[in-house]
Amino acid sequence: MNCIFCKIIAGEIPSYKVYEDEDTLAFLDINPVHPGHTLVVPKKHYANIEEADEATLCQVIKTVKKVGLSLKNKLGASGYNVQVNNDPASGQLVPHLHFHLVPRMADDGLKLWPQRAYQPGQAEEVMKKIKIN
Ligand code: 5GP
Ligand code: ZN
Repeated sequence: MNCIFCKIIAGEIPSYKVYEDEDTLAFLDINPVHPGHTLVVPKKHYANIEEADEATLCQVIKTVKKVGLSLKNKLGASGYNVQVNNDPASGQLVPHLHFHLVPRMADDGLKLWPQRAYQPGQAEEVMKKIKIN
């Protein structure tokens, strides 16, 4: 499998590792939104959230929490964004599930995606389509 993150996990490509355990690895993104931008990955290769088993997802989110605490306590971040680009349509370039943690400072000027109001009736229509239970 020609996966760049599998190569980082295997140590074939160098990375700045922030945290590692049996199931997960956290390392600095090579092109950070802000310094400290970290990627958390499961060591097993899964393309996206749906492919990954629940135990793995739990391990990954536990590592997200650890790294987030470190960004706050050691980097002085006021908060952080957690983002998964899930599938290419959402902007996923590396097809190995990864959680971005972007440290945020008050008034750092970073703008997230634009939002807009629903048209009348549109919210109910969409809810009925995607409702699970
Ligand atoms: P995606 O768009 O798939 O959600 O994000 C992939 C991320 O991986 C990008 O933010 C990119 O900067 C980062 N990235 C790509 N190649 C490498 C690499 O070789 N090493 C590291 N540390 N990060 C990488
Ligand atoms: Zn991989």
